[in-house]
Amino acid sequence: MSPVIQTHSLTKVYGTNGQAVHALRGIDISVEPGEFVALIGPSGSGKSTLMAILGCLDSPSDGRYVLDGHEVQGLSGSELARIRNEKIGFVFQSYNLLPKASIVRNVELPMLYAGVGRKERRERAMELLVKVGLEDKALKLPATLSGGQKQRVAVARALANRPTLLLADEPTGALDSKTGAEVLDLFRELNAQGNTLVLVTHDPSIAAQAQRRIEIRDGEAYAGGTLEAPKASKIPGTREAEHHVELGRPLLAGGV
Ligand code: ADP
Repeated sequence: MSPVIQTHSLTKVYGTNGQAVHALRGIDISVEPGEFVALIGPSGSGKSTLMAILGCLDSPSDGRYVLDGHEVQGLSGSELARIRNEKIGFVFQSYNLLPKASIVRNVELPMLYAGVGRKERRERAMELLVKVGLEDKALKLPATLSGGQKQRVAVARALANRPTLLLADEPTGALDSKTGAEVLDLFRELNAQGNTLVLVTHDPSIAAQAQRRIEIRDGEAYAGGTLEAPKASKIPGTREAEHHVELGRPLLAGGV
């Protein structure tokens, strides 16, 4: 099975010449199917930039990104939108629910864009609401829910098109610690069911709950406290071999 995420020397430069900001300086990571990875790093380290590229919301300045075996670079805007809708489920800190649509309608929305028929949309949305424990709220409006419940709806919506990858950007950032812990439990449960998760956070205690951490520092990726054996494919005599993976060393070629 191919990795869900594989990047090769991804760079991102904002601005030009004297004003250029090197947000990513050659990121080589990979994420295998079924992994739960936390991208961690301080503010300004490049996490959002990397997340936007991994989510096919932005393109790198240079380098390659292969998503579930598909080369992403060179795709047009509409092709990017299609691959995004098909393969990626997003969860954001701010939930991003449509305030005037019912909960079940919010969950149905990505399926509408994907052309799923009305009956199947409703059935699948209700199944997902059962999964996140909110089936009794299906016909309510988002404003009637607590923050934790809204984030559960956002998770159900993210799962609507059975994505290959769930990308969560500071998903507990707006929640109190108890509710945040419940949302994290939900992510862990989804991961146990086989979903591949990448979660962006600046909070080490949240990152500690992932299976594996990748730390972003000044636009470079480092293995941050792995719990499992390194997976990097190392080719003798290459730069990758010199930088073979250790904690706190740059991550090159194929991730951890
Ligand atoms: P993080 O998500 O870790 O806080 P970002 O990816 O937002 O980091 O930012 C990485 C660097 O790129 C920062 O120096 C930031 O100021 C810069 N940056 C991010 N977005 C832009 C942009 N649209 N234009 C110019 N610079 C940007």
